[in-house]
Amino acid sequence: MVKKTLPFTKEQIQKIIRKNPTPFHIYDEKGIRENARRLYKAFSWAKDFKNYFAVKALPNPFILKILKKKGMGTDCSSLPELLLSEKVGIIGEDIMFTSNDTPADEFVKAHELGAIINLDDISHIDFLERALGGKLPQTICFRYNPGPKRTGGVQLGDPKEAKYGLTEEQLFKAYQVAKEKGATRFGLHTMFASNELDPAYHLATAKMLFELVVAIKKKLGIRMEFINLGGGFGVAHKPEDVPLDIETLSSEIKKLYTHLIMANGLDPLRIVMESGRMITGPYGFLVTTVRHLKHTYKEYVGLDASMANLMRPGMYGAYHHITVLGKEDKPANHKYDVTGSLCENNDKFAIDRMLPEVERGDILVIHDTGAHGHAMGFNYNGKLRSAELLLRANGEVVQIRRAETFDDYTATLDLKNLEKFKP
Ligand SMILES: *Cc1c(COP(=O)(O)O)cnc(C)c1O
Repeated sequence: MVKKTLPFTKEQIQKIIRKNPTPFHIYDEKGIRENARRLYKAFSWAKDFKNYFAVKALPNPFILKILKKKGMGTDCSSLPELLLSEKVGIIGEDIMFTSNDTPADEFVKAHELGAIINLDDISHIDFLERALGGKLPQTICFRYNPGPKRTGGVQLGDPKEAKYGLTEEQLFKAYQVAKEKGATRFGLHTMFASNELDPAYHLATAKMLFELVVAIKKKLGIRMEFINLGGGFGVAHKPEDVPLDIETLSSEIKKLYTHLIMANGLDPLRIVMESGRMITGPYGFLVTTVRHLKHTYKEYVGLDASMANLMRPGMYGAYHHITVLGKEDKPANHKYDVTGSLCENNDKFAIDRMLPEVERGDILVIHDTGAHGHAMGFNYNGKLRSAELLLRANGEVVQIRRAETFDDYTATLDLKNLEKFKP
């Protein structure tokens, strides 16, 4: 069970709305910082533990700067993400470049920045070598795809349907080839879980990677410098969800480390991860105002936010908790579909959701929008992306991204030529 609380009061939000009209996402700096501290404390036993924040989750440089201060690097998968990381001074081996179907210029930029390059395919060894003018980087990491393998009694999803990574056979070959081509430092990565709250998955991932580290040493004489557990650590979206217990998970991983890595004389092996969702997800809130109430075959609440601000419910049917501000203690005895204004019937934040009676003008807060929220925004139907605000630890509110305007919407159109254009 999780208590879905808010880091602000109704009065605070009303004051913020006077300056910043709804809808907007607001992020809780204190929450993000405490969460980061908790993760690093849980893994303090592991030498040089680091989380490379998956930039795609919340690509705002102000947030990256907060995370940098907490010791995090970035996990980038595109040129713009690399440039964003560079903007806040996260460079060198504080960047993990985990991409797929990668263009050559992105490999070049990642290498220029000194990033650790994580290859998604065996054919990328040659591709990277050519992109870099005939020389592989000293440090190389490979992404492993375990296929339909079971590890530690856990079926690891169906990774053979996942486009990512190398097969086991390819993986051994890839390290061998990379070594022959002059690589001297090696990492091993995998990721197949997504938003997974069951610690057994994450533990099985660690076990599988530790066992591979041992096997690679035995077979190839290559000593792994780090393993990258990937992302996929879940957020407890529903009140009845059991949150991932990161302390227990870490101590279980430590036991495996002792039995598999230390016992085989492979200590120290760095443990890193590239979690995004778990880092910021629970610390973002979409604040929106009720525009209309509609009664037809069902009861509809129409908001000034739409799936252009938060795509997850419409796209994945994902649950996002909703609080009607100021009515937290009223009984949730009305059933609503909570919708946006897009001309798409899946533009719904919730279907058949029990809420206290909603009135026009009520402020609704949609929880857990700190990852894949604003980031997945789009302009379809002429919807403009909202502002992003940061609630500082001292209570101050800073706008860290303004809302889009019509000029932003048309910025890529050549309107000067439009006047001259004669159809
Ligand atoms: C998306 C992604 C992550 C982060 O996943 P979360 O669900 O945010 O933890 C990490 N690594 C890779 C390669 C990804 O694609």
